[in-house]
Amino acid sequence: MNAAATTHQHTNCLRCGRKLTSAKSCATGYGPTCQRKVREAARAEVIATYKPHQIAKAEELIEQGALIPLRPGIYLTPSSDGTQTYRTHRAACSCPAGIKGIHPCKHRIAAHILSLAA
Ligand SMILES: [Zn+2]
Ligand SMILES: [Zn+2]
Repeated sequence: MNAAATTHQHTNCLRCGRKLTSAKSCATGYGPTCQRKVREAARAEVIATYKPHQIAKAEELIEQGALIPLRPGIYLTPSSDGTQTYRTHRAACSCPAGIKGIHPCKHRIAAHILSLAA
């Protein structure tokens, strides 16, 4: 886990906005119900079309509470060293890999998973 992820504590659920009560929820940014919905979304058939190691990285980002909803379908995601923030939609991302756009980056996959759980 990187420093940016470990230092950030959430107070409200990133999905439904309810107040988070357990220490675990505050670390991940999702209450138990929302976390389950996100996990189910990550198992959807449409997500399985991405490469497995990319899906794993996307899930890791989500479990760190790294994707902050900005507008419906648009998320702010931190770069892996925590120095930059990207704007991510499931079809586009402002990270270097996303701008190249050859393969969907982990941010886009994570945004896709979250949009399915929305
Ligand atoms: Zn929630
Ligand atoms: Zn990206």
